[in-house]
Amino acid sequence: MILTDDQRALRDMAEAFARKEVMPIANQIDMEERTPDSLISKAAEFGLYGLYTPVEYGGAGADMVSVCLVCEEIAKASPAFAGALTVEMILCPAAVAILGTEEQKQRILPRSASGERLMAYSQSEPAGAGNVMEHLTRAIPDGNGYRLDGSKLYCTQGPAQTYLVMCRTRDKDGKEGFGCVIVEREAEGLHIAPYEHKLGWRGTNTGPIAFDNVRIEPENVLGDLLTGGFSHRAANHANLLGHVATSIGCAEGLFDLTLEYVKDRRLYGRNMSELQPISYWMAEAWAKIQACRALLYDTAAAFDRGEMQPATSNACKAFIGDACFEICCKLLQMWGGSGIMDSTGVNRYMRDAKAKTIAEGASEMHYAIIANQLFHNSPALVPPQTFVKGAA
Ligand SMILES: Cc1cc2nc3c(=O)[nH]c(=O)nc-3n(C[C@H](O)[C@H](O)[C@H](O)COP(=O)(O)OP(=O)(O)OC[C@H]3O[C@@H](n4cnc5c(N)ncnc54)[C@H](O)[C@@H]3O)c2cc1C
Repeated sequence: MILTDDQRALRDMAEAFARKEVMPIANQIDMEERTPDSLISKAAEFGLYGLYTPVEYGGAGADMVSVCLVCEEIAKASPAFAGALTVEMILCPAAVAILGTEEQKQRILPRSASGERLMAYSQSEPAGAGNVMEHLTRAIPDGNGYRLDGSKLYCTQGPAQTYLVMCRTRDKDGKEGFGCVIVEREAEGLHIAPYEHKLGWRGTNTGPIAFDNVRIEPENVLGDLLTGGFSHRAANHANLLGHVATSIGCAEGLFDLTLEYVKDRRLYGRNMSELQPISYWMAEAWAKIQACRALLYDTAAAFDRGEMQPATSNACKAFIGDACFEICCKLLQMWGGSGIMDSTGVNRYMRDAKAKTIAEGASEMHYAIIANQLFHNSPALVPPQTFVKGAA
């Protein structure tokens, strides 16, 4: 697709930022399973966390195509850092912008956009991330507010200060629903367990959190108490697209390193790139990456126009996520034993690509959503409203 001058300029700036600030420490983030505070500060200064936040709340109000370009560039250097970024930059601010009252937007968005108080999104539970009606975390009426009880799995939180927690809800008349509440890190009764060691997306501090009678004031219910957990679909769709851009960046990052490697490496008296299967695999990987980019950016542009077809973000997530993992597996094969050794710093791309096929919903779940649309015309899949254009 043809980019505007602004989109091209932003992409180039993100590429320069990723090369200078992210790439040199990307292996360290993976090996030490920790993102240095200095990188968070530099990302904040660069404006990454506010990129998708509306201008009136301290952000840049960028369109989805621009957001995807930035996510792609950052992921070429560190797909793990980029993975957490989509939640902080897209999903959480968009959910607040869509569901929040004016007071909530003023209170939360400027501080998340500046990086002062980043946000985390907490939904997954042992019953299955998407199986929300069997979730056990509940907000129960208590005086003029609520109290939150339960626990969550796999919350990617890094240095997050503000948590958006999806929970079963009950109003004062006993009516049940699925809502979203805001919990600040300082809240009494919020317990953050040590993060999990994981295969990919390392350094993003993913782990369980628990709520023990956490007091929720009325002003910390986000959106309708009974439907808030379901009614920020535009935020979820936008986040899926940003997430997919990081899958593509992941495959491209490994592709670029592999291209240099096979050009330089001597094998059987010639450059590896002269071995026919190698040159064919590289060409095939390149073609597949171009196809993935075409699908993503076509979808992102449709999203910006408010014309995205139902379930296309799900299609991107499942199809491109799986394709990028397969591309990474093939590319890593070309490194032989050196690809398996951590010291070369390349196997993290394959591990991160795998994590991306599960995080934000496993591919099968997204295909199940598409199937539901195809065979049952599921009402949950009506085209989402665009967020940037301000529809609530
Ligand atoms: C690195 C990482 C970061 C994460 N960060 C967060 C976070 O910040 N916040 C958060 O809330 N969650 C987070 N998650 C959780 C993530 O969203 C879930 O792991 C994911 O949605 C899958 O849910 P599950 O683990 O409960 O798997 P399950 O729902 O138990 O599914 C297991 C497997 O069953 C298959 N499957 C699932 N659904 C279907 C279906 N409908 N049809 C056919 N097959 C199906 C798939 O193969 C799937 O992998 C993170 C996960 C990872 C890996």
